[in-house]
Amino acid sequence: MHFAMKRAAAISAKSPSKSETSAAVNLLDLGPDPRTETLRVLQALLVQRFGRIERAAAEWRRPEWVLVQGVIGARTKSEVSNAATDRLLKRYGSFEAVAEAPLEELQAELATQTYLNVAAERLKASLSALVERRGTVDLSHLVKMDTLSAMQWLEQLPGIGRKIAAGVMNASTLDRRAIVLDSHHTRILQRMGLVPPKANTDKAFSAIMPAMPEEWSGADFDEHHLLMKKLGQTWCRPAAPQCAACPAESFCKTGMARAE
Ligand code: SF4
Repeated sequence: MHFAMKRAAAISAKSPSKSETSAAVNLLDLGPDPRTETLRVLQALLVQRFGRIERAAAEWRRPEWVLVQGVIGARTKSEVSNAATDRLLKRYGSFEAVAEAPLEELQAELATQTYLNVAAERLKASLSALVERRGTVDLSHLVKMDTLSAMQWLEQLPGIGRKIAAGVMNASTLDRRAIVLDSHHTRILQRMGLVPPKANTDKAFSAIMPAMPEEWSGADFDEHHLLMKKLGQTWCRPAAPQCAACPAESFCKTGMARAE
């Protein structure tokens, strides 16, 4: 088994709780993680192929906005969910007012979303829970929390899983080092052998975070995610990966196996 896979499998086999992940990796003491260099090289190749994908300053939104965008965004293009989130704010004036809106009204407002009924229900439930806990739709308390604790706090809200929690921490003005794993990104990590083959989002997050280059900032994490998403939409598609054209082929477990 490739060393990177052994390491990912070892991390996975221990099934650490989220808070134990870093300690578990230290205890394993397997030396420098080769996946880190793989990620650096991959990032450079993806920039070479796609160009830089940097979020403009105006696109760094408040954490509350990112939470809403994530909750309503299942299987929907980001641009569509972005526009829907802006429309909600414009129509109701505040996310507190969105939380109080009748469910049927929210379903109509979210007509552009793929799963509009689920989106409306989750939106109302998560915002209502937030108002119940904080008195308002306000996540400013997360600023003082470490990233993992803040994510665990967010994941107690209905409809908030690891992907949305990581998005709130990374792709917002919080600008934290938390990798957002959507289905494209997770699939590529699995195929490359950088996380266990059947790892769900939680396990993939725990497996890959210790390998992320320590010099990468929150903005670098964001750009890496956007580039991986682009790779998943271009070559590493779900049904038929086009490995021969993919820049990762020479160090991807699946790509190398298919080239033999
Ligand atoms: S080489 Fe193939 S399997 Fe690997 S990342 Fe590229 S397209 Fe996906």
